[in-house]
Amino acid sequence: MVKLLQLVPLFLSAIPVTILARPYEKVFHIATLNNHHKNKDGVSTIFDEMNTDARITGVDEDELRLIQLDEDEPPKWMTVGERMDLYRKKTKFMDITDYPDLGDSYKAAERTRRQFPIQPQFQQEVESFINQLTTKHMEANLRKFTSFRTRYYRSNTGKESSNWLYKQILRIVEDAEDDVDVSVRKFKHPWTQSSIIARFEGSDPQKENEVVIVSAHQDSVNMWIPSFGRSPGADDDGSGTVTILEAFRVLVENGFKPVRPVEFHWYSAEEAGLLGSQAIAQDYAKEKKDVVAMLQNDMTGYVGNKPETFGVIVDYVDSDLTIFVKSLIEEYAAIPYVDTKCGYACSDHASWRKAGYPSAFTIETDFKDSNPYIHTSNDVIENLDFNHMLEFAKLSVSFAVELSYSN
Ligand SMILES: [Zn+2]
Repeated sequence: MVKLLQLVPLFLSAIPVTILARPYEKVFHIATLNNHHKNKDGVSTIFDEMNTDARITGVDEDELRLIQLDEDEPPKWMTVGERMDLYRKKTKFMDITDYPDLGDSYKAAERTRRQFPIQPQFQQEVESFINQLTTKHMEANLRKFTSFRTRYYRSNTGKESSNWLYKQILRIVEDAEDDVDVSVRKFKHPWTQSSIIARFEGSDPQKENEVVIVSAHQDSVNMWIPSFGRSPGADDDGSGTVTILEAFRVLVENGFKPVRPVEFHWYSAEEAGLLGSQAIAQDYAKEKKDVVAMLQNDMTGYVGNKPETFGVIVDYVDSDLTIFVKSLIEEYAAIPYVDTKCGYACSDHASWRKAGYPSAFTIETDFKDSNPYIHTSNDVIENLDFNHMLEFAKLSVSFAVELSYSN
């Protein structure tokens, strides 16, 4: 059936649609649909979306999931099908089915509440790293990363893209000087795509249980056909993925030796309700790890037609950490920031907040001006600016260095 359908566009392109339209209404419907699904190059995508080479594994649309839509509201049971509708309504949510107790086991009150620095203090060290950042690797990496049909967390290509990313991280570590103490591991989930954690050990044994986290999410989604619709996810969140990979590369290649440990996280299943980051946050809370600070990079590449800025998210974040993030932008970036809001559970920082840890989130523009093509087959590299991503890489490097060295 699918193969026959794929022949229809060829057939249509050879015969004027008007001739076909009157006698064959069904065919006309397909042609109309076809016109609505052209990407920027005018290439039809709807039939491409029917290609099944990224077949999903084990989805039951009637399966019930526990969904949280706000911090103070009780969660609601919804089917997987209803959860998919949330993408289309652009409603952000947290799927807490498997992590209902996140935040209960290790409340913020039990931990040392530390002060963040008032100002950046390690300019010389930070500058030596950020001077080495380039757009070259980000561009090559994003081209490859967006070539997977979709990075949907339960798809085969979502697993393949994750394996590819893991190999790139591993290669950076393997090529490093022997005295850089970095390890890489997959954090496995019950679905096909793993999250990835790369960790720099710290030099102070007394701070071994502390950690600074820089993060992004690897999965993508096509909101119309989540399981196998084409979803390059260049901006959401291929951009954040390659931004923090570039920050990581420069730190590894230039022998970064943090005082407290620093970790880079690439989460799976953000789009399905922050599943990967909740699993990891829950694990860290259970082990009573002391997460000093977490910075999420979700969409770092789209500038739009307004003056270029960072969007600093100011709702559902740690306000003291966010003030420090602003001081890092002022000190190290070439562009200013604007305060903006994105609502409850709009990215993985929300999982760490729920676990009781300080988290912050920066995005490519004022949230209302951010990339309109996300979650479609048109979220492509051509809409992005690698120099803009470079500013976020500077922020990630400075966040890691400053918060690892500070008291
Ligand atoms: Zn995202």
